[in-house]
Amino acid sequence: MPATPAWPPKSAPRLFVDQQLAEGMTLSLDGPQAHYLSRVMRVGQGDAVILCDNRTGEWLAEVTAAGKRDVTLSLVRQQRPREAVPDFWLCPALLKKDRFDTVLEKATELGVAAIHPVVTHRCVADKLNPERARTIVTEAAEQCARTALPDVHEPVKLEAMLRDWPEDRLLFFADEEGGEPASEAFAFSKFPERGEGLHKAALLVGPEGGFDDAERGAIRSLAQARPISLGPRILRGETAALAGTTLWMGLAGDWADS
Ligand code: SAM
Repeated sequence: MPATPAWPPKSAPRLFVDQQLAEGMTLSLDGPQAHYLSRVMRVGQGDAVILCDNRTGEWLAEVTAAGKRDVTLSLVRQQRPREAVPDFWLCPALLKKDRFDTVLEKATELGVAAIHPVVTHRCVADKLNPERARTIVTEAAEQCARTALPDVHEPVKLEAMLRDWPEDRLLFFADEEGGEPASEAFAFSKFPERGEGLHKAALLVGPEGGFDDAERGAIRSLAQARPISLGPRILRGETAALAGTTLWMGLAGDWADS
């Protein structure tokens, strides 16, 4: 007797929706999401779709009608609450578009809570398209089955970021001119009882041309700043951002909890 296939199938499509989800709700998706479900994923009546709302968590939904322009679904049950997101901000200097796209996508997969783009004196780019950035992080979160979306903030100038930096958050400053080995510095941020009372964390990474001396001095004079080294080689900005985030997640984030 062949086993009945599991429902929902692991391949069930996943989508983040704008509306807050609740027990017994029905909703209708149109536009690109309807196109993705009906034309790309070819869902039909009775098929499963996983929906997330970045507030209550992940829900199993069943397709009740799949048309060309819209797809109607009814919620079956909540499957997972919204994940507990490690309180880590990535503050990458803006980079050339495709490289910054990589930072947005990979930082989302790595589990960051927020991305705060920074504009520094040597940035080649100084703008970020917010809709495009949101699409990139949403698609990355859907692909890696996150139930939370990282906040993506408007780019701010380094001076303003330092001026407004929160009292209770460490700012790990990736300084290619030297700093504490990141693995040692990050270990502190997990165990505040070891003398570092601040374990909300952030990582600041420079652009293609690095920080100039005035910027380096301003960053280092911030009380919450901790200059760190990511090894003996000069990494590209996107490499440093993702390597530093990976290391922090492994040492002080939620990778040990999984
Ligand atoms: N000053 C670099 C050079 O001499 O080519 C250019 C900057 S590097 C391409 C981009 C950024 O990545 C740096 O500003 C720094 O934040 C970070 N970074 C690169 N290598 C690093 C390392 N070994 N340790 C810490 N941060 C590093």
